[in-house]
Amino acid sequence: MNTTNSFLTPIVQTMPPSGIRQFFNAAEADPEVISLGVGEPDFVTPKRAIEASARALESGRTMYTPNEGLMELREAIAEYLYSRFQLSYEPSREVLVTVGGSEAIDLALRALVSPGDEVIIPVPGYVAYAPLVSLNGGRAVELELTAEQDFKLTADALQQAITPRTKALVVNFPSNPTGAVMTAADWLPIASLAIQHNLVVISDEMYAELTYVGEHTSIASLPGMRDRTLVIGGFSKAFAMTGWRVGYLCGERELLKGMIKIHQYTALCAPIMGQIAAIECMRNGQEDKESMKAAFDERRKMFVQGLNEIGLPCREPKGAFYAFPSIAGTGLSSQQFAERMLREAKVAAVPGHVFGLGGEGFIRCSYAASSGQLQEAVERIGRWLKSAE
Ligand code: PLP
Repeated sequence: MNTTNSFLTPIVQTMPPSGIRQFFNAAEADPEVISLGVGEPDFVTPKRAIEASARALESGRTMYTPNEGLMELREAIAEYLYSRFQLSYEPSREVLVTVGGSEAIDLALRALVSPGDEVIIPVPGYVAYAPLVSLNGGRAVELELTAEQDFKLTADALQQAITPRTKALVVNFPSNPTGAVMTAADWLPIASLAIQHNLVVISDEMYAELTYVGEHTSIASLPGMRDRTLVIGGFSKAFAMTGWRVGYLCGERELLKGMIKIHQYTALCAPIMGQIAAIECMRNGQEDKESMKAAFDERRKMFVQGLNEIGLPCREPKGAFYAFPSIAGTGLSSQQFAERMLREAKVAAVPGHVFGLGGEGFIRCSYAASSGQLQEAVERIGRWLKSAE
């Protein structure tokens, strides 16, 4: 039978809906539920950024910006990447302001992936990459990371996933959902392989500022990597700006030109109010950022200890704001565990299978919630686990 669904392309028809949204919606529907499901800070955007944006809007700054973003913001991003991570980009041609990091991911994959190309995606990983590779007719090749390796990407595993069709590698450290980070020493053999096999690397560094153990290192800063890496960043996580929709994409100018062309036809520009708020955060929001980070770090330690104490083994997440405890000992699948925990303990988390191979046997809990909520969540889960024994 002809249904309206059949108007959609086969790829879109078979694309799975985001597994994260499913639990987010369920948590929203019941006010008693503590939601550790969605990956967003519980803080409000720094006041100074809200005020700067409101002032600009009041004065009539309500228009499009240049396609690439306000020059002042591009300059601030370039200065920041240079001073923090030794990455050197020319603001006028190598920095593109996007509609969140999300648009940056979409643009990078659209501009790079042709039908039949393989893109290696380490998993458990962020949910957006594989569907967007498929949308371009590419093949998302999941590379399974393991808890034994601390969910880091290793050269051995990468080598095995590379074929003559491999075009690109997507990396996301600090990782959503595992909290894993990669050091310069970890990156070195990965960079060698990327160069040896002529891969382009899409490095999603949304959580760079939320690195609690050691220092964030961008793979783009390794020798020979700058011109074959696209760096993605944003303001949603570190500056609690999820609703403003601003992020960025940086890369060698000829490479970035491809993404700018698509952006000119689709988004045109990121919202001006978000760009103005982001400028204020970059120029004057360092203290706000540090105090939110300190709060996340405190909650991270308390929450991870709590999970371990109630019998959900949890490695130390070194970055981002997610704990990824093992639920394998319960004998339930991650879907069953998350559904029952939501129904019976009134705590929402995301089942690990949503994040791809290797995610089964785990759940993702965001600790970007208040300490009180996190404590209460640990108590509820602990009581529920005991009663279910
Ligand atoms: N990349 C990762 C790894 C994320 O976790 C998220 C959001 O959860 C994004 C990108 C998208 O962020 P934005 O709000 O900047 O679009």
